[in-house]
Amino acid sequence: MAGNTSGKLRKLREILAEVTDLSRAAAVLEWDQETYMPPGGVEGRAEQQSTLHRLAHVRFVSDEVGRLLDDLEGEVASLPHDSYEASLVRVTRRDYQQQIKVPTDLVEDIARAGATARPFWEKARTDNEFSLFAPYLEKNVELNRRLADALGYEKRPYDALIDLYEPALTTRQLEAIFAELRTAIVPLVSDIARHADAIDDRFLHADFAPELQVKYGMQVVTQLGYDLERGRQDISAHPFETSFGPGDTRITTRISPGFFNMCFFGLVHESGHAMYQQGISEEIDRTPLWDGASPGVHESQSRLWENLVGRSQPFWRHFFPSVQSTFPAQLRGVDEEGFYRAVNKSHPSLIRVEADEVTYNLHILLRFELENEMLEGKLKVKDLPEAWNARFKSYLGIDVPNDRDGALQDIHWSGVSFGIFPGYTLGNLIGAQLMEKVRADIPDLDAQIEAGEFAPLLAWLRKNLHQHGRKFTPNELMERITGKPLAAAAWIAYVRRKFGALYGLEKD
Ligand code: ZN
Repeated sequence: MAGNTSGKLRKLREILAEVTDLSRAAAVLEWDQETYMPPGGVEGRAEQQSTLHRLAHVRFVSDEVGRLLDDLEGEVASLPHDSYEASLVRVTRRDYQQQIKVPTDLVEDIARAGATARPFWEKARTDNEFSLFAPYLEKNVELNRRLADALGYEKRPYDALIDLYEPALTTRQLEAIFAELRTAIVPLVSDIARHADAIDDRFLHADFAPELQVKYGMQVVTQLGYDLERGRQDISAHPFETSFGPGDTRITTRISPGFFNMCFFGLVHESGHAMYQQGISEEIDRTPLWDGASPGVHESQSRLWENLVGRSQPFWRHFFPSVQSTFPAQLRGVDEEGFYRAVNKSHPSLIRVEADEVTYNLHILLRFELENEMLEGKLKVKDLPEAWNARFKSYLGIDVPNDRDGALQDIHWSGVSFGIFPGYTLGNLIGAQLMEKVRADIPDLDAQIEAGEFAPLLAWLRKNLHQHGRKFTPNELMERITGKPLAAAAWIAYVRRKFGALYGLEKD
């Protein structure tokens, strides 16, 4: 490139580095708030956060960044789509357009509405009284609509919102995917329900010493490849992963002293997120490219390690002896096969965050449909509980006894957040689609896992996915890596095979 271009690129990178530093400093404060901050720190912390976010926003949406992008766009036009320079300009432009399209008063209204609605959502949930929350949800639906209008869309308002989280995905594409999922899973769920006693997981609901749970789980995730020279683990009420750059990616966990799965699979899940961050190329550090491609692609990495690896039979062939010797009393008389079956027990349940692999996507399908209907004015907020319960019964076959365990269960709708939920399902689908390709490229993957060798799998993920950060959209990534568009087929085949075997369904 011409000298002038690299001068402009250098200038753009300088500004983006400052924006990144401010955002990462805010993320450190948030991590502290969730882990160690005393309760008295809440008000001061809110001020500090808001100052850092405002400074980052102002620096980013400046006219200077707009001018640099205008100038650089012409100059990188001849470079390959996947080159670092072209990708940086393209992705920064996308972020920039999104941020400048939303007027400041709407940004403030959205922030205020979330803070205002949250305590009413909490009270409505505690009191099991939807009407206490309804007026605030109405307000949030209206703000989601205003946000969609500000961002702009061609066909459906939801297109604008989904694009915020999963770039270039459309409501239509999601509807097609969810329709396919519904057709495949609803009958599978009822087949499994008829064979519910095929799996006994009672021994997982025993006393497991919390310190030992963490110690054992951390041994496992370091063996998977989570690098603790560049990471750490702490306890928090809501588990998460957060990253402040290539050298510092942290996870948190929560522990149930009476249930094995929560801490162990939580650690594997968050480590999946962390290994993604740890694998992003340092060349793109301190730019908007240095992050996961989207929440859905991020979730594909946590789910891949948690479910496709961590709940597989070869995985427990390797780890069962060590988990049994760590918890000899609790696992007395249990064998490797029984353990593998127990951690995969599937049953329809009311709460999304406790849902198993098979039923999970139905919880998301329901929310995706209801969000769309509320956004398009087809469903009134006051009728939401009834619509929720009817659909729950038809998809999962169970009656919702109260709104606390129904339409009021998630925190998401207390803020302006339509469009976030589909990412959870996309994560499951992308994980399975990637795994099909992994298996084609590494034919002895199961033997490696059974031998406790995870380096080849991690190296594959690094090379094909992690290193690129945000360079590509979810659809582009799937096309590049698997040669196919993002689809539900791989995941459907996977659950049918796995749960058909676990529950003996092919015998019917
Ligand atoms: Zn996750």
